[in-house]
Amino acid sequence: MANVLVVAELSEDGKLKKSTLSAITFARQALPVVGGALNIVVLGASTAEAAAELAGFGAAKIIAVEDPSLAHYTAEHYAPTVAAAAQGSSLVVATATSFGKDLLPRVAARLGAAYAGDCSGVSAEGGKLLYKRPMFAGNASGYCTLETTVQVATARQSEFSPAEPSGGSSPVEKLAKAAVGAAAARVEFVGLEAVKSARPDLGDAKVVVSGGRGLKEKFFEVMEPLADAVGAAIGASRAAVDAGYAPGDFQVGQTGKIVAPQLYIAVGISGAIQHIAGMKSSKVIVAINKDAEAPIFQIADYGLVADMFQAVPALTAELKKRHG
Ligand SMILES: Cc1cc2nc3c(=O)[nH]c(=O)nc-3n(C[C@H](O)[C@H](O)[C@H](O)COP(=O)(O)OP(=O)(O)OC[C@H]3O[C@@H](n4cnc5c(N)ncnc54)[C@H](O)[C@@H]3O)c2cc1C
Repeated sequence: MANVLVVAELSEDGKLKKSTLSAITFARQALPVVGGALNIVVLGASTAEAAAELAGFGAAKIIAVEDPSLAHYTAEHYAPTVAAAAQGSSLVVATATSFGKDLLPRVAARLGAAYAGDCSGVSAEGGKLLYKRPMFAGNASGYCTLETTVQVATARQSEFSPAEPSGGSSPVEKLAKAAVGAAAARVEFVGLEAVKSARPDLGDAKVVVSGGRGLKEKFFEVMEPLADAVGAAIGASRAAVDAGYAPGDFQVGQTGKIVAPQLYIAVGISGAIQHIAGMKSSKVIVAINKDAEAPIFQIADYGLVADMFQAVPALTAELKKRHG
């Protein structure tokens, strides 16, 4: 085995997404087993800014693929090029965001490679890579090795801290977009209706405040001032989302976003295993719930048994007083 290729993820405006740095951490951990060099591929309509940022992470080279058809992500346009860039690599890795989870299985199929998705760890066993993967909503971990020469994996962002730049300046090598198949001709990017928010992105936020279904129509009335007081992103339980109190992209958990902020404040969330699967790696967990027996208290570092409609505004007012 030799060479690890990291697939970088860019935002719609061509900026490097912080999530990419978790894949670099994964790649650095795998490199001693795989051997060879770390390379990074970046795709987009304009990649210069992201490539320059990536050049400080100690990669042997940054492979930059620029094409107008890559301005917006579509798997059918990206997968053939990533597979072409992966020639000579034994491991291809991206972070397990929606982008990574959509793209990398297709890349694996093109390379005839086995795939380990959403890995929470990677280590060595008998000269092979040993992938650790969460199972049963994170209540158990499975370990697997893959038998193919080329392997493809995605790294769970909350389990791999963002890589720090290691200095130096990697050379940038241009690569032409690979020919696409018939599937790409049937796919057209129509538009992206992204939620615009001045708040930090849920996946990158240092502080997340999440609300449960008990907030009902008062979800935003209670949660927004708290989020503003601590500069937090807002999350929600699935029950709150399903009931229409919060939008779908707020959902934290097994079937939502996986987050690991410095501080996670759960407001009126019972602590079902599917919710905990998405936030249990948070550094400090605070729970506010009127039910002292709520399972969320079993994993909380700090718990407050209180009515959230009184406790949260009081906490918000106190935080505002202290932090302006
Ligand atoms: C396959 C599958 C996938 C799932 N994926 C997810 C997922 O990704 N994310 C997720 O969150 N869930 C997920 N769920 C749903 C999960 O099982 C729970 O139903 C959900 O998390 C419960 O949300 P909740 O805590 O808001 O609601 P509840 O469980 O109803 O809890 C509400 C809580 O609010 C408290 N409360 C009510 N009023 C007040 C008050 N005035 N003051 C203080 N506390 C109050 C109650 O004491 C209670 O603990 C999934 C379920 C399945 C089957």
